[in-house]
Amino acid sequence: SEDFHSFAEQTKRSAEQYTKARELIPGGVTANIKYMEPHPIIMRRAEGSKLYDIDHNEYMDYLLSYGALIHGHGHPEVYEAVMKQMKSSGTTIFGTPHELEMVMAEKLISLYPGIEMVRYTNSGLEATLLALRTARAYTGKPKIAKFEGHYHGGYDQVLLSVNPEHEKSGDAAQPNSVPESHGLPEYYQKNTIMLPFNDFPSTEKILRTCKEDISAIIMEPVQGGFIPAEKEFIKQLRTLTEELGIVLILDEVKTGFRLSLGGAQEVYGIEPDITALGKVLGGGFPIGAIGGKKEIMNLLSPHGGRDIMTVGEEDSQKREAVFHSGTYNGHPTVLAAGLSTIELLERDGVIGELFSKTHALRDRLEELYGQYGIPMQTIGKGSIFNIILSKASIKNYRDMEQADLGLRKAIDYELLKNGVYTKPLNRYSLSTAHTEEDISRTIRAHEQAIKTVLK
Ligand code: PLP
Repeated sequence: SEDFHSFAEQTKRSAEQYTKARELIPGGVTANIKYMEPHPIIMRRAEGSKLYDIDHNEYMDYLLSYGALIHGHGHPEVYEAVMKQMKSSGTTIFGTPHELEMVMAEKLISLYPGIEMVRYTNSGLEATLLALRTARAYTGKPKIAKFEGHYHGGYDQVLLSVNPEHEKSGDAAQPNSVPESHGLPEYYQKNTIMLPFNDFPSTEKILRTCKEDISAIIMEPVQGGFIPAEKEFIKQLRTLTEELGIVLILDEVKTGFRLSLGGAQEVYGIEPDITALGKVLGGGFPIGAIGGKKEIMNLLSPHGGRDIMTVGEEDSQKREAVFHSGTYNGHPTVLAAGLSTIELLERDGVIGELFSKTHALRDRLEELYGQYGIPMQTIGKGSIFNIILSKASIKNYRDMEQADLGLRKAIDYELLKNGVYTKPLNRYSLSTAHTEEDISRTIRAHEQAIKTVLK
């Protein structure tokens, strides 16, 4: 189409290299999310809030490695912390316990209301997987429940109804569990109960019916990073899960450090039983972590499933322990990057300034789209938001159908030509490296894009 034509002109070398990549890497991408039509843009350099591609185009980066880079690219203090760690210890990784593991654990315990103990993984995916296993062991119940449209990593138990095909997804009040890939054993579909987000009466009905089987509910407090749980909804869910003996797992992989230092749980004022973290926690390196109540976390035993642990006060509540291992868990270089990232965020005024920049961008975008008569709203929380081309209230995955995705996509391709990098339809994440000037340039790029698309 027209969009693709001028995009292709600007990204010729990316197109060439992508042709080669497809011979070497299935689909030419190392993660599905990195693909875009007609081909991905291949980058060669980055600095602060900017990305530079192999055709020498410059972009303001609002993807920020899916939100991981809260201080932008190559923050000097994060670099220094990484180099210092490797130089002073003489290694990239010990493969044994080391003190930074405790320093970071103390930090997370002090910041997150729901965290009393911590274990590290190497990705957000591994964190949610471990959280679910631990919850099953703790409750002795076989199934889990998740919300339609929520993403927790691409593995068998949760790769269900993230973006389900309309005709398969069923009744909004009682959604089907729809596999997002071939190769998922049917077992998981049967053992993952699907819930409607921000609909408490329907969620309660399903949970009361299945309470004997459900070990845990896993949820994103802000779906996709931009559709917030309603405060009343999440509070009622916390109370109900306590009553029904269901472990509440808050997946804060996106929201951790981005809604506040203590994540969504601090903002909403709830204490989940288990929290999953990732992204920002690694300062741009791979990481994940789970944290939770001692009573649950202590099921993670160095002796694995052979250990019998007592859960709670009574001796009758015996549980087999949970196995968890990993060559790179608690990687010192990664923890050094993560700690310096968090320490930078803790400095006076830093988070506040990030939020006010985000809000300024949101306000100015809303004003601009209003001037051109395009129905539009921004939704989100903290330093992440999305642009929704509709005035309808957006409370869950299905409400996104109200938005004009075609127009949004056309604008996004124009933005790429005008030096604003958002993967088409993706949310916007901001960093402390984004300047007032970046925001003004972004507004100008949007105005240019709107003018071209409306022509
Ligand atoms: N949970 C949420 C809420 C996420 O957004 C993601 C990644 O986007 C994950 C889990 C998986 O994390 P990772 O990509 O590090 O495996």
